[in-house]
Amino acid sequence: MKNYKQRDINGRELRPETLMMSYGYDPKLSEGAIKTPIFQTSTFVFESAEAGKAFFELAYGLRAKDPKEELGLIYSRLNNPDLEVLEDRLTLWDRAEAAAVFQSGMAAISTSLLTFTRPGDVVLASEPLYGGSDHFVKHVLPNFGVTPVCFKAGHPISEIEQDIREQVGDRRVSAAIVETPANPTNALVDIQDTADLVHSFGSEEHRPVLIVDNTFLGPVFQHPLKHGADIVVYSATKFIGGHSDVIAGACLGPSELLSEVRGLRTFMGNMAGPWTGWLLLRSLETLKMRMTAQMKNAQYVASFLAEQPKIRTVHYLGLISEDDPMFGVYRKQCEAPGSLISFELDGGEAAAFRFLNALQLAKLAVSLGGTETLVEHPGSMTHSDIAPEDQRQMGITPGLVRISVGVEYYEDLILDLEQALAAV
Ligand SMILES: *Cc1c(COP(=O)(O)O)cnc(C)c1O
Repeated sequence: MKNYKQRDINGRELRPETLMMSYGYDPKLSEGAIKTPIFQTSTFVFESAEAGKAFFELAYGLRAKDPKEELGLIYSRLNNPDLEVLEDRLTLWDRAEAAAVFQSGMAAISTSLLTFTRPGDVVLASEPLYGGSDHFVKHVLPNFGVTPVCFKAGHPISEIEQDIREQVGDRRVSAAIVETPANPTNALVDIQDTADLVHSFGSEEHRPVLIVDNTFLGPVFQHPLKHGADIVVYSATKFIGGHSDVIAGACLGPSELLSEVRGLRTFMGNMAGPWTGWLLLRSLETLKMRMTAQMKNAQYVASFLAEQPKIRTVHYLGLISEDDPMFGVYRKQCEAPGSLISFELDGGEAAAFRFLNALQLAKLAVSLGGTETLVEHPGSMTHSDIAPEDQRQMGITPGLVRISVGVEYYEDLILDLEQALAAV
């Protein structure tokens, strides 16, 4: 490639998976090294006092950026080459103008929410949410005078809109956080309809933002910005990292909103470090291959599970039937079913535990999206913070098991599942 921000050849746009090995990195700045070195440094030397002053003017928004001017390197809590290259590459999948990486998915989610909410505001939230997000919205935001109004995934927005409006009353809605497909049930939320609802709470002076947690299908198989979302957040610990060896998060969206998020990140101090950036750059090169291989395996695994007499229901997007009210939503916003499956065993928690304890290949661990297959029990693990009553309403039953399918040979996985089911 002639230039490190080149995205096309003779005007034909190149795909993100093609650009993951080059985009945003100029080897000339690093002795010709083909890979981005790890810039393990906390601070950067200014060429002159004037250059230092100019960098700070931009970083602190004291003057507008010249169109050709690049943000200078100052200090690794503000920016670092590994993180900048990573942010540039992440924007490509979601066609976002800008990205910000964080120390964890929770850092990305909490910082985004805090950026856009103020005391007295309402935040809308879909249910179920990832346990940490659920806790942040229901137990942390209220300490800052922000009230959550929750609604269930899996229902058309038109059915629940009235109830949401009544609960909001005349308070200001500043943000909504939605997870779709939802963890752990794969319940869907219509992104476009939610965006329309959220934006309808805006006024001349204030536009509420829709934040979509795209961890389950993105960034390869779902692109919420295309469907009206304002901000996309990720636990990069999951598919983006993909090897269960790093904790990280990301937030993407239009430059205008992202500069606010980055501003708060600077002062919360929850920027990721260069080593995390380097690991994620390496992971991004194989992201599409991994997610595609995992999805193919998941399709085999889900078909197998669906035929088992001891299993009551299998929640997998690849099995969603045409008469399901969510089928239209699936077709509209998901490009593939991904590799997360949950299923309900007959016999409640006791049966689920017998199954989990009998597995030999699949590992009993929380987290997901890695190369190895992981299984867990949402009711007593990832979602144990949620009251049993509420769990049941969200479809998190005592017999529910979640499986994140990895890249192993699918017949080996099915062999393991089959022998563990026999133990139930
Ligand atoms: C894991 C996860 C998170 C939290 O990410 P961390 O990197 O663990 O902080 C948020 N949302 C979803 C959907 C997740 O699966």
